[in-house]
Amino acid sequence: MSTLHRISNLIGGKDFPGDGYERRNPADPSDLVSVSPASGADAVDAAVTAAGDAQPGWASLPAPARGAILMDAAEILRGRHEEIARDLVREEGKTLAEARGEVRRAIDVFRFFGSEGWRLGGPTLPSSQPDTLVHTRREALGVVGLITPWNFPIAIPAWKMAPALIAGNAVVLKPAELTPVSTRHLADALVQAGLPAGVLNVVHGAGPVVGEALVTDPRVAAVSFTGSTTVGMHIERTVHERRGRVQVEMGGKNALVVLDDADVEQAAQIAAAGGFALTGQACTASSRVICTPGVYEAFVAALTKQAERYRPGNGLDGGTLMGPVVSEQQLAGVTAAIERARDEGVTFAAGGDAPQGLMLAPTVLTGAGRESAVARDEIFGPVVAVLVAEDLDDAIELVNDSRYGLAAAVCTQSLAHAQRFAARVRAGVIKVNRPTTGLDLNVPFGGVKDSSSNTFREQGTVATEFYSWSKSVYMGWDD
Ligand code: NDP
Repeated sequence: MSTLHRISNLIGGKDFPGDGYERRNPADPSDLVSVSPASGADAVDAAVTAAGDAQPGWASLPAPARGAILMDAAEILRGRHEEIARDLVREEGKTLAEARGEVRRAIDVFRFFGSEGWRLGGPTLPSSQPDTLVHTRREALGVVGLITPWNFPIAIPAWKMAPALIAGNAVVLKPAELTPVSTRHLADALVQAGLPAGVLNVVHGAGPVVGEALVTDPRVAAVSFTGSTTVGMHIERTVHERRGRVQVEMGGKNALVVLDDADVEQAAQIAAAGGFALTGQACTASSRVICTPGVYEAFVAALTKQAERYRPGNGLDGGTLMGPVVSEQQLAGVTAAIERARDEGVTFAAGGDAPQGLMLAPTVLTGAGRESAVARDEIFGPVVAVLVAEDLDDAIELVNDSRYGLAAAVCTQSLAHAQRFAARVRAGVIKVNRPTTGLDLNVPFGGVKDSSSNTFREQGTVATEFYSWSKSVYMGWDD
């Protein structure tokens, strides 16, 4: 018997229930996963007030004490790992293996930033003046707003809230409407670990209502957003206008380049993992593959074979490598992109049949023009367009001829080719003989161009820079 989760807003340590939204399992619409509030701007106002009241006390706790709460929350998540992973599959649709990995990521992120509590600080520098020492302090910003998408509903809130909290901020989080349960599990772990009331507040509801109220509230010192480029750019402009601090991580049209000297079978596995795992619904997904001529035909044949392995199914069934598309709305966007490509005369090496419910077969397209929408626009589904480039330089030019710059990868046996690719490609993440997807939590993450605000990076120790400001203290003495 599957649990129905009744999700409340968490404001000032208290639960405020609501039932404006229903979320059903994308693999099984008879499974009602959650009901959650469709809040208004008044809930955001209350949450920001509660966060503002709680923040000074939280910031005055020694950083190792703040870190201990994150560490304890990680242990609580670890004890509930399987239950949370299963809920994540039910509400988002990804496979159980993917969900387990995502919960594991949140646990590790909490541990990583928990231990940062012992290391926070700034450099001490020599002064030009006698008997004077300069040290730098990192101060919390105050109340920060976090807005997160549905595709990684545990990992992304975790990698935003952990650096925000360890740096001494109070948080108001607005999770995606489609995935309220996952985020609530994170909040519950922090509350059970002893996070003081009001330090973390979660408000559920529509982006244009709840998100907009958070972004425009002058008491919110900084906003960190992950989601679509359209919404991200709007948020960036809005927060800049009121001179707040803002970080936005947005879309991508990530390319995998396969050179003549690549191991073709390995390249096809890498393309399938990057393009079809997570149902292609990852900001770093490989949605275009660029082959040089000598490898093109063998690569398309190998990728077509790989696509058969990713037949969509219920993520809770053992052996499923790819789950359904997350929602009707998302599916409509993906199928519209496929139909447009069909009208333009592409060839379907794999896929092309009508979806069954939200189950969409992996799709491999060949023959698309470099200027076509399928080669240029983010699709956010299991669709890979295979293009041809004359040589490495032409491939690099094609990779860079994009409004996006998030992730890019090359398959090659040549160190020189790999180095040239890494140096010349304009993207925040470069991989060699590895999928564009998959990130280490201790490594800075972010993009360039229309993929990112490209100011502060997320993840790794540098993540706390966004959530704090630097103060220089000149300490003089007289003998
Ligand atoms: P959206 O931009 O639609 O939504 C992201 C979040 O913003 C949601 O919580 C949403 O709320 C909220 N939101 C929507 N409109 C507004 C608004 N006007 N003001 C404030 N908040 C708003 O993206 P999706 O959730 O559909 O996610 C898919 C997109 O995210 C893809 O384009 C993908 O590339 C990108 N992405 C980028 C990542 C990165 O690190 N670069 C990682 C993951 C995804 P609601 O749920 O109510 O709509």
